[in-house]
Amino acid sequence: MTGIAPQPGILEIKLYVSGQSSIEGREDVVKLSSNENPFGPSPRAQEALRRSAHLLHRYPPTDHAALRAAIGEVHGLDAGRIICGVGSDEIIHFLCQAYAGPGDEVLYTEHGFSMYRISALAAGAAPVEAPERDRTVDVDAVLAACTARTKLVFIANPNNPTGTMIGGGDLARLAAGLPEGVLLVLDGAYAEFASGYDGGVSLIEERGNVFMTRTFSKLYGLGGLRVGWGYGPREIVDVLNRVRGPFNLSLPALDAAEAAVRDRDFVEKCLAENKRMRAWLAEALAERGVPSDTSCANFILARFHDTEEADACDAWLRDAGILVRKVAGYKLPHCLRITVGDEASCRRVAHAIGAFKDSRT
Ligand SMILES: *Cc1c(COP(=O)(O)O)cnc(C)c1O
Repeated sequence: MTGIAPQPGILEIKLYVSGQSSIEGREDVVKLSSNENPFGPSPRAQEALRRSAHLLHRYPPTDHAALRAAIGEVHGLDAGRIICGVGSDEIIHFLCQAYAGPGDEVLYTEHGFSMYRISALAAGAAPVEAPERDRTVDVDAVLAACTARTKLVFIANPNNPTGTMIGGGDLARLAAGLPEGVLLVLDGAYAEFASGYDGGVSLIEERGNVFMTRTFSKLYGLGGLRVGWGYGPREIVDVLNRVRGPFNLSLPALDAAEAAVRDRDFVEKCLAENKRMRAWLAEALAERGVPSDTSCANFILARFHDTEEADACDAWLRDAGILVRKVAGYKLPHCLRITVGDEASCRRVAHAIGAFKDSRT
Protein backbone atom coordinates (compact mmCIF):
# COMPACT_ATOMS: atom_id res chain seq x y z
CA MET A 1 0.00 0.00 0.00
CA THR A 2 1.13 3.50 -0.77
CA GLY A 3 -0.71 5.21 2.07
CA ILE A 4 -2.23 7.61 -0.44
CA ALA A 5 -5.75 8.24 0.81
CA PRO A 6 -8.43 10.77 -0.09
CA GLN A 7 -9.99 13.17 2.39
CA PRO A 8 -12.61 11.64 4.71
CA GLY A 9 -16.06 11.48 3.12
CA ILE A 10 -14.89 11.26 -0.49
CA LEU A 11 -15.22 7.48 -0.71
CA GLU A 12 -18.79 7.68 0.61
CA ILE A 13 -19.81 9.52 -2.54
CA LYS A 14 -21.72 7.31 -4.93
CA LEU A 15 -21.22 8.30 -8.54
CA TYR A 16 -24.08 10.33 -9.97
CA VAL A 17 -26.25 8.33 -12.37
CA SER A 18 -27.73 10.50 -15.09
CA GLY A 19 -30.86 9.84 -17.14
CA GLN A 20 -30.26 7.37 -19.95
CA SER A 21 -30.01 8.99 -23.38
CA SER A 22 -30.08 6.20 -25.95
CA ILE A 23 -31.33 2.67 -26.59
CA GLU A 24 -29.06 0.40 -28.61
CA GLY A 25 -30.35 -0.24 -32.11
CA ARG A 26 -33.12 2.39 -31.98
CA GLU A 27 -33.21 5.77 -33.63
CA ASP A 28 -36.73 6.94 -32.81
CA VAL A 29 -36.05 7.31 -29.09
CA VAL A 30 -38.03 9.84 -27.08
CA LYS A 31 -35.88 11.05 -24.19
CA LEU A 32 -37.97 12.12 -21.22
CA SER A 33 -35.40 11.24 -18.58
CA SER A 34 -33.45 14.45 -17.88
CA ASN A 35 -35.95 17.34 -17.74
CA GLU A 36 -34.53 18.92 -20.87
CA ASN A 37 -36.38 21.50 -22.97
CA PRO A 38 -38.18 19.64 -25.79
CA PHE A 39 -37.73 22.70 -28.03
CA GLY A 40 -33.95 22.75 -27.59
CA PRO A 41 -32.03 25.97 -27.06
CA SER A 42 -33.16 29.40 -28.30
CA PRO A 43 -32.11 30.05 -31.93
CA ARG A 44 -30.47 33.25 -30.67
CA ALA A 45 -28.33 31.26 -28.25
CA GLN A 46 -27.27 28.99 -31.10
CA GLU A 47 -26.35 32.02 -33.20
CA ALA A 48 -24.30 33.53 -30.36
CA LEU A 49 -22.50 30.23 -29.94
CA ARG A 50 -21.57 30.15 -33.62
CA ARG A 51 -20.22 33.70 -33.45
CA SER A 52 -18.03 32.86 -30.47
CA ALA A 53 -16.23 30.20 -32.53
CA HIS A 54 -13.96 32.94 -33.95
CA LEU A 55 -12.71 33.88 -30.51
CA LEU A 56 -11.78 30.49 -29.10
CA HIS A 57 -8.10 31.45 -28.85
CA ARG A 58 -9.00 34.15 -26.31
CA TYR A 59 -9.41 33.53 -22.60
CA PRO A 60 -12.94 34.32 -21.45
CA PRO A 61 -13.69 37.25 -19.14
CA THR A 62 -13.32 36.36 -15.48
CA ASP A 63 -16.02 38.67 -14.10
CA HIS A 64 -18.93 37.47 -16.28
CA ALA A 65 -20.07 41.09 -16.33
CA ALA A 66 -22.13 40.91 -19.53
CA LEU A 67 -24.01 37.78 -18.51
CA ARG A 68 -24.61 39.07 -14.99
CA ALA A 69 -25.90 42.36 -16.39
CA ALA A 70 -28.32 40.52 -18.69
CA ILE A 71 -29.60 38.31 -15.85
CA GLY A 72 -29.89 41.36 -13.62
CA GLU A 73 -31.93 43.28 -16.21
CA VAL A 74 -34.28 40.43 -16.99
CA HIS A 75 -34.93 39.49 -13.36
CA GLY A 76 -34.66 42.97 -11.84
CA LEU A 77 -31.68 42.00 -9.67
CA ASP A 78 -28.48 43.70 -8.54
CA ALA A 79 -25.90 42.28 -10.98
CA GLY A 80 -23.21 42.82 -8.35
CA ARG A 81 -24.77 40.10 -6.24
CA ILE A 82 -24.97 37.48 -8.99
CA ILE A 83 -22.35 34.73 -9.37
CA CYS A 84 -22.16 32.42 -12.39
CA GLY A 85 -21.06 28.81 -12.32
CA VAL A 86 -20.56 25.72 -14.43
CA GLY A 87 -24.18 24.73 -13.97
CA SER A 88 -25.91 25.46 -10.70
CA ASP A 89 -24.21 22.26 -9.55
CA GLU A 90 -20.99 24.27 -9.30
CA ILE A 91 -22.70 26.93 -7.17
CA ILE A 92 -23.98 24.18 -4.83
CA HIS A 93 -20.42 22.90 -4.69
CA PHE A 94 -19.00 26.36 -3.87
CA LEU A 95 -21.55 26.79 -1.07
CA CYS A 96 -20.56 23.50 0.56
CA GLN A 97 -16.86 24.11 0.06
CA ALA A 98 -17.07 27.60 1.55
CA TYR A 99 -19.51 27.05 4.41
CA ALA A 100 -19.36 23.40 5.50
CA GLY A 101 -16.48 21.18 6.53
CA PRO A 102 -15.59 18.34 8.92
CA GLY A 103 -17.89 18.41 11.95
CA ASP A 104 -20.58 20.42 10.14
CA GLU A 105 -23.94 19.26 8.84
CA VAL A 106 -25.63 19.99 5.53
CA LEU A 107 -29.39 19.53 5.72
CA TYR A 108 -31.83 18.72 2.91
CA THR A 109 -35.03 16.75 2.58
CA GLU A 110 -35.93 13.09 2.11
CA HIS A 111 -36.47 13.25 -1.66
CA GLY A 112 -34.05 16.15 -2.20
CA PHE A 113 -31.71 16.56 -5.17
CA SER A 114 -28.71 14.22 -5.07
CA MET A 115 -26.02 16.89 -5.55
CA TYR A 116 -26.55 18.22 -2.00
CA ARG A 117 -25.29 14.98 -0.50
CA ILE A 118 -22.43 14.69 -3.00
CA SER A 119 -21.19 18.25 -2.45
CA ALA A 120 -21.54 17.97 1.34
CA LEU A 121 -19.42 14.81 1.40
CA ALA A 122 -16.87 16.33 -0.98
CA ALA A 123 -16.45 19.18 1.52
CA GLY A 124 -15.98 16.73 4.41
CA ALA A 125 -19.32 17.67 6.01
CA ALA A 126 -22.07 15.28 7.12
CA PRO A 127 -25.20 15.11 4.94
CA VAL A 128 -28.44 15.01 6.97
CA GLU A 129 -31.94 14.32 5.68
CA ALA A 130 -35.21 15.66 7.10
CA PRO A 131 -38.41 13.69 6.40
CA GLU A 132 -40.97 15.06 3.94
CA ARG A 133 -44.74 14.82 4.25
CA ASP A 134 -46.55 13.31 1.25
CA ARG A 135 -43.54 13.99 -1.00
CA THR A 136 -43.49 17.66 0.00
CA VAL A 137 -41.04 19.65 2.12
CA ASP A 138 -42.19 19.77 5.75
CA VAL A 139 -40.92 23.03 7.27
CA ASP A 140 -41.38 21.84 10.85
CA ALA A 141 -39.42 18.66 10.15
CA VAL A 142 -36.60 20.70 8.58
CA LEU A 143 -36.45 23.06 11.55
CA ALA A 144 -36.54 20.09 13.96
CA ALA A 145 -33.59 18.50 12.13
CA CYS A 146 -31.37 21.55 12.64
CA THR A 147 -28.59 21.15 15.20
CA ALA A 148 -25.76 23.31 16.46
CA ARG A 149 -23.68 21.81 13.63
CA THR A 150 -26.02 22.71 10.78
CA LYS A 151 -24.45 25.18 8.35
CA LEU A 152 -26.51 24.89 5.15
CA VAL A 153 -30.10 23.94 4.38
CA PHE A 154 -30.87 23.09 0.74
CA ILE A 155 -34.47 23.18 -0.46
CA ALA A 156 -35.26 22.70 -4.13
CA ASN A 157 -38.47 24.63 -4.81
CA PRO A 158 -40.08 23.14 -6.87
CA ASN A 159 -38.27 19.95 -5.92
CA ASN A 160 -36.79 17.35 -8.24
CA PRO A 161 -37.96 14.54 -8.53
CA THR A 162 -41.28 15.22 -6.77
CA GLY A 163 -42.34 18.36 -8.69
CA THR A 164 -43.99 19.70 -5.53
CA MET A 165 -43.25 23.05 -3.91
CA ILE A 166 -44.00 25.04 -0.78
CA GLY A 167 -45.45 28.54 -0.77
CA GLY A 168 -44.05 31.91 0.23
CA GLY A 169 -45.48 31.72 3.75
CA ASP A 170 -43.76 28.42 4.45
CA LEU A 171 -40.47 29.65 2.96
CA ALA A 172 -40.58 32.77 5.14
CA ARG A 173 -41.33 30.66 8.22
CA LEU A 174 -38.40 28.39 7.40
CA ALA A 175 -35.97 31.28 6.88
CA ALA A 176 -37.13 32.97 10.08
CA GLY A 177 -36.98 29.77 12.13
CA LEU A 178 -33.42 28.73 11.27
CA PRO A 179 -30.78 29.09 13.98
CA GLU A 180 -28.33 31.93 13.61
CA GLY A 181 -25.43 31.14 11.31
CA VAL A 182 -27.40 28.81 9.05
CA LEU A 183 -27.78 29.70 5.36
CA LEU A 184 -30.97 28.67 3.56
CA VAL A 185 -30.28 27.83 -0.09
CA LEU A 186 -33.32 27.84 -2.38
CA ASP A 187 -32.50 25.77 -5.44
CA GLY A 188 -34.57 27.32 -8.22
CA ALA A 189 -33.64 24.99 -11.07
CA TYR A 190 -37.37 24.82 -11.89
CA ALA A 191 -38.48 28.17 -10.45
CA GLU A 192 -39.58 29.59 -13.83
CA PHE A 193 -42.06 26.75 -14.34
CA ALA A 194 -43.95 27.72 -11.17
CA SER A 195 -46.02 30.68 -12.30
CA GLY A 196 -45.98 33.60 -9.89
CA TYR A 197 -42.95 32.34 -7.94
CA ASP A 198 -39.92 34.65 -7.76
CA GLY A 199 -37.47 31.90 -6.81
CA GLY A 200 -37.07 33.41 -3.36
CA VAL A 201 -35.90 36.89 -4.45
CA SER A 202 -38.24 38.80 -2.12
CA LEU A 203 -37.10 36.69 0.84
CA ILE A 204 -33.45 37.29 -0.06
CA GLU A 205 -34.06 41.04 -0.12
CA GLU A 206 -35.74 40.91 3.31
CA ARG A 207 -33.24 38.73 5.13
CA GLY A 208 -29.52 38.02 5.33
CA ASN A 209 -29.71 34.22 5.53
CA VAL A 210 -31.17 33.21 2.17
CA PHE A 211 -29.41 32.43 -1.13
CA MET A 212 -30.84 31.25 -4.44
CA THR A 213 -29.43 29.10 -7.25
CA ARG A 214 -30.74 29.06 -10.82
CA THR A 215 -29.81 27.31 -14.05
CA PHE A 216 -29.80 27.54 -17.83
CA SER A 217 -30.09 23.77 -18.10
CA LYS A 218 -33.84 23.29 -17.83
CA LEU A 219 -36.05 26.09 -19.20
CA TYR A 220 -33.32 27.51 -21.45
CA GLY A 221 -32.39 24.16 -22.96
CA LEU A 222 -28.66 24.65 -22.41
CA GLY A 223 -27.81 21.67 -20.21
CA GLY A 224 -25.01 20.70 -22.57
CA LEU A 225 -23.31 24.06 -22.11
CA ARG A 226 -23.26 24.03 -18.28
CA VAL A 227 -24.28 27.48 -17.03
CA GLY A 228 -25.94 28.29 -13.73
CA TRP A 229 -26.00 31.22 -11.34
CA GLY A 230 -26.63 32.25 -7.78
CA TYR A 231 -27.98 35.37 -6.09
CA GLY A 232 -27.87 36.44 -2.47
CA PRO A 233 -26.32 38.70 0.14
CA ARG A 234 -23.18 40.53 -1.02
CA GLU A 235 -20.95 38.93 1.65
CA ILE A 236 -21.93 35.45 0.55
CA VAL A 237 -21.35 36.20 -3.14
CA ASP A 238 -17.98 37.67 -2.22
CA VAL A 239 -17.01 34.47 -0.38
CA LEU A 240 -18.13 32.22 -3.24
CA ASN A 241 -16.17 34.28 -5.76
CA ARG A 242 -13.00 33.51 -3.80
CA VAL A 243 -13.38 29.76 -4.33
CA ARG A 244 -14.60 30.10 -7.92
CA GLY A 245 -11.98 29.44 -10.60
CA PRO A 246 -11.46 32.69 -12.55
CA PHE A 247 -12.05 31.03 -15.92
CA ASN A 248 -14.82 28.66 -14.81
CA LEU A 249 -17.14 29.58 -17.68
CA SER A 250 -16.06 29.40 -21.32
CA LEU A 251 -16.68 32.24 -23.76
CA PRO A 252 -19.19 30.24 -25.85
CA ALA A 253 -21.10 29.39 -22.68
CA LEU A 254 -21.19 33.02 -21.50
CA ASP A 255 -22.26 34.35 -24.91
CA ALA A 256 -24.94 31.73 -25.53
CA ALA A 257 -26.42 32.10 -22.03
CA GLU A 258 -26.59 35.88 -22.41
CA ALA A 259 -28.46 35.56 -25.71
CA ALA A 260 -30.75 32.92 -24.19
CA VAL A 261 -31.78 34.98 -21.18
CA ARG A 262 -32.59 37.95 -23.43
CA ASP A 263 -34.77 35.89 -25.78
CA ARG A 264 -38.02 36.35 -23.84
CA ASP A 265 -40.31 35.34 -26.71
CA PHE A 266 -38.74 31.90 -26.82
CA VAL A 267 -39.00 31.60 -23.03
CA GLU A 268 -42.70 32.54 -23.07
CA LYS A 269 -43.41 29.99 -25.78
CA CYS A 270 -41.63 27.21 -23.87
CA LEU A 271 -43.39 28.07 -20.61
CA ALA A 272 -46.81 28.13 -22.25
CA GLU A 273 -46.27 24.79 -23.92
CA ASN A 274 -44.94 23.23 -20.72
CA LYS A 275 -47.96 24.42 -18.78
CA ARG A 276 -50.37 23.10 -21.38
CA MET A 277 -48.74 19.69 -21.84
CA ARG A 278 -48.01 19.23 -18.12
CA ALA A 279 -51.73 19.45 -17.35
CA TRP A 280 -52.58 17.25 -20.31
CA LEU A 281 -50.05 14.56 -19.37
CA ALA A 282 -51.04 14.47 -15.69
CA GLU A 283 -54.67 14.01 -16.66
CA ALA A 284 -53.94 11.45 -19.35
CA LEU A 285 -51.94 9.36 -16.86
CA ALA A 286 -54.58 9.71 -14.15
CA GLU A 287 -57.21 8.42 -16.61
CA ARG A 288 -55.00 5.39 -17.12
CA GLY A 289 -54.75 4.75 -13.38
CA VAL A 290 -51.40 6.45 -12.76
CA PRO A 291 -51.72 9.33 -10.28
CA SER A 292 -49.21 12.14 -9.67
CA ASP A 293 -48.90 15.12 -7.36
CA THR A 294 -49.61 18.50 -8.94
CA SER A 295 -46.32 19.38 -10.60
CA CYS A 296 -44.89 22.90 -10.55
CA ALA A 297 -41.95 21.92 -12.77
CA ASN A 298 -41.31 20.48 -16.26
CA PHE A 299 -41.80 16.85 -15.30
CA ILE A 300 -44.33 14.63 -13.60
CA LEU A 301 -43.68 12.06 -10.91
CA ALA A 302 -45.88 9.14 -11.94
CA ARG A 303 -46.86 6.87 -9.05
CA PHE A 304 -47.38 3.14 -9.49
CA HIS A 305 -48.77 0.52 -7.09
CA ASP A 306 -45.36 -0.76 -6.14
CA THR A 307 -41.73 -1.09 -7.20
CA GLU A 308 -42.46 -4.11 -9.39
CA GLU A 309 -45.08 -2.23 -11.40
CA ALA A 310 -42.85 0.84 -11.80
CA ASP A 311 -39.93 -1.29 -12.97
CA ALA A 312 -42.15 -3.23 -15.37
CA CYS A 313 -43.51 0.01 -16.81
CA ASP A 314 -40.00 1.40 -17.23
CA ALA A 315 -39.02 -1.74 -19.17
CA TRP A 316 -42.22 -1.55 -21.25
CA LEU A 317 -41.53 2.08 -22.15
CA ARG A 318 -37.95 1.27 -23.08
CA ASP A 319 -39.25 -1.40 -25.46
CA ALA A 320 -41.47 1.29 -26.95
CA GLY A 321 -38.42 3.56 -27.42
CA ILE A 322 -39.28 5.89 -24.54
CA LEU A 323 -36.79 6.78 -21.83
CA VAL A 324 -38.05 7.99 -18.45
CA ARG A 325 -36.23 8.24 -15.13
CA LYS A 326 -36.26 5.66 -12.36
CA VAL A 327 -36.02 7.40 -9.00
CA ALA A 328 -35.36 4.56 -6.56
CA GLY A 329 -32.19 6.45 -5.58
CA TYR A 330 -34.48 9.22 -4.30
CA LYS A 331 -36.38 6.76 -2.08
CA LEU A 332 -39.24 6.63 -4.58
CA PRO A 333 -38.87 3.12 -6.07
CA HIS A 334 -42.59 2.94 -6.97
CA CYS A 335 -42.39 6.09 -9.10
CA LEU A 336 -41.08 7.13 -12.51
CA ARG A 337 -40.15 10.71 -13.34
CA ILE A 338 -41.36 11.74 -16.79
CA THR A 339 -40.24 14.97 -18.42
CA VAL A 340 -43.00 17.00 -20.06
CA GLY A 341 -42.00 16.73 -23.72
CA ASP A 342 -43.58 18.27 -26.80
CA GLU A 343 -47.12 17.24 -27.69
CA ALA A 344 -46.10 14.24 -29.80
CA SER A 345 -43.85 12.86 -27.04
CA CYS A 346 -46.51 13.36 -24.37
CA ARG A 347 -49.07 11.55 -26.50
CA ARG A 348 -46.62 8.74 -27.15
CA VAL A 349 -45.74 8.18 -23.50
CA ALA A 350 -49.38 8.40 -22.38
CA HIS A 351 -50.39 5.91 -25.05
CA ALA A 352 -47.60 3.50 -24.08
CA ILE A 353 -48.46 3.68 -20.38
CA GLY A 354 -52.11 3.01 -21.27
CA ALA A 355 -51.06 -0.08 -23.24
CA PHE A 356 -48.86 -1.18 -20.32
CA LYS A 357 -51.76 -0.87 -17.88
CA ASP A 358 -54.08 -2.78 -20.27
CA SER A 359 -51.51 -5.56 -20.58
CA ARG A 360 -51.71 -6.13 -16.82
CA THR A 361 -55.46 -6.46 -16.42
C1 LIG B 1 -31.03 19.92 -12.87
C2 LIG B 1 -30.97 20.43 -11.45
C3 LIG B 1 -29.94 21.27 -11.00
C4 LIG B 1 -28.73 21.68 -11.72
O1 LIG B 1 -28.46 21.63 -12.89
P1 LIG B 1 -27.21 22.31 -13.57
O2 LIG B 1 -27.27 21.72 -14.91
O3 LIG B 1 -25.98 21.94 -12.81
O4 LIG B 1 -27.47 23.77 -13.52
C5 LIG B 1 -29.96 21.74 -9.72
N1 LIG B 1 -30.94 21.42 -8.89
C6 LIG B 1 -31.95 20.62 -9.26
C7 LIG B 1 -33.02 20.32 -8.29
C8 LIG B 1 -31.98 20.09 -10.55
O5 LIG B 1 -32.96 19.26 -10.91
